[in-house]
Amino acid sequence: MTLVESRGVGGRASLLGTTPPPPGQPELRWSRFVPATAAEGPGVRAAVWVQGCAVRCPGCFNPHLWATRGARLDEPAERAAEWVDAAVAAGADGITLLGGEPFDQADALAIVAEAFRGAGLGVMAFSGYTFDRLQEWSRDRPDIARLLAATDLLCDGPYLADLPDTRRPWIGSRNQAIRALTPRYAAEVERIARDGGGDALEVRIAADGTVAVNGWATDAALAALLDDLGVRGDRAASLRKEPSR
Ligand code: SF4
Repeated sequence: MTLVESRGVGGRASLLGTTPPPPGQPELRWSRFVPATAAEGPGVRAAVWVQGCAVRCPGCFNPHLWATRGARLDEPAERAAEWVDAAVAAGADGITLLGGEPFDQADALAIVAEAFRGAGLGVMAFSGYTFDRLQEWSRDRPDIARLLAATDLLCDGPYLADLPDTRRPWIGSRNQAIRALTPRYAAEVERIARDGGGDALEVRIAADGTVAVNGWATDAALAALLDDLGVRGDRAASLRKEPSR
């Protein structure tokens, strides 16, 4: 059920016609985790970029996260406990699941989401699948139903490069929706539906000079910025606006 939503407009949301891989993959496949970011959802939150995406939107900003090959593999409950501790220590309000496609590994990410919920934190998820499809599939897919049930805020729909969204935060194209599935972020979604909102870009420079970027900026703005900073050392970082964006 959606409490409040900022609906997507236009596009053929089902154009890609893909379905999530079958369940049964016990390991968590991921690429990058940050304990606190202000660019991937409401407030300050942890974020994990998962690896593997069957949707494969043309123009996706994270094609390096499409393949499952090269992912970090973990037992989800153990890794989730570490991430909860890191997020709490950093003062985060919750976690954002992005990627990559979180619902392509719903079993493992439901465990992560439930761990954050269990600690009183919120869960935001991006998906290239539409909410309608996820709901439909959830009738026969307990893993998808479980991850949906543990999600407070969902940004859904494929990224369509020819429909750029410059009015709302976090998402990349106008067809995508932002939905409060629980009351936790309902006021924020209501505000976005009414007033829109801006994007944010974060650049982290490690002691060894490695540059990591997440959030959203235009290619031109980012290129100009990184020209001044040196070579970006993380293609695992998210330069997405979707979702993955
Ligand atoms: S935008 Fe998201 S759903 Fe689309 S291909 Fe990229 S990671 Fe996958």
